[in-house]
Amino acid sequence: MLQVNRLGKTYTRGKQANVVLDDISFGVPDGQFVAILGPSGGGKSTLLRCLAGLMESTSGSVTIGGKIVRGAPKEMVCVFQEYSRSLFPWRRLLGNVTYPIETSVPKKVAAQRAHEMIATVGLDGFAAHYPWELSGGMQQRAAIARALVTEPKYLLMDEPFGALDAQTRIQLEDTLLEIWTKSPRTVIFVTHDIDEAIYLSDRVIVLGARPSRVMEDVMIDLPRPRNQITTKEDRRFADYRRSLFDLIMVPQQPANQSLPPARAAE
Ligand code: ADP
Repeated sequence: MLQVNRLGKTYTRGKQANVVLDDISFGVPDGQFVAILGPSGGGKSTLLRCLAGLMESTSGSVTIGGKIVRGAPKEMVCVFQEYSRSLFPWRRLLGNVTYPIETSVPKKVAAQRAHEMIATVGLDGFAAHYPWELSGGMQQRAAIARALVTEPKYLLMDEPFGALDAQTRIQLEDTLLEIWTKSPRTVIFVTHDIDEAIYLSDRVIVLGARPSRVMEDVMIDLPRPRNQITTKEDRRFADYRRSLFDLIMVPQQPANQSLPPARAAE
């Protein structure tokens, strides 16, 4: 069980303080697929970085199995949006995927596990390619293979498909679900895309605008395996979409602040 306890994060610059996260608490049982949904700039990436031990929180804590997380835990890996910066351009796909395990297991075993993972993400036949010879979607598949080759207990993903075109994104969502179904592990998936959050997850945690708090914690009661057509045609999908849309599309301006005249007249 991963537990977030009253987590807070304030960025300071000189005397200026930017309170981004305020008193965030939730628990994630092992194997759950959780989406963190919220408006852009609301602190989702900050939360993910605190969970991954890549950044220190200002207050509160993250615990795994009751133990406070300090630094990046071994059993946790992250996949980020910028796939082109996450792979080593001087290494072939195989070398990129073996990288995290090459000092911990014999070379042959590392190569075998990497080949298996490359096949799992649908990149069979591309092991000898360099990242720059692969499309964006293929590079992100490679980044997922590299993340999963260590068989982590926790997979943290920060808008991983945000930079991909719509069709590639849909394909990668389904690849991710296939992988997760075959070997369930805890996934924490940050997105600002409501449909993506509902489609993938068991549960959607909604963060409000800054300072972010947990506004809503919604269990997604949709059958699995999911399907891009039938799941999204389900009446419950539309209901979730409507209620989440209402939650995160609340006006960001204070109520007494009117629009500038030019906009108001449109
Ligand atoms: P989201 O992922 O929801 O788009 P972020 O966590 O990236 O939100 O950013 C939330 C706020 O924190 C923004 O105002 C952003 O400018 C600020 N911020 C993010 N990272 C840093 C940083 N390393 N230093 C200072 N401010 C930051």
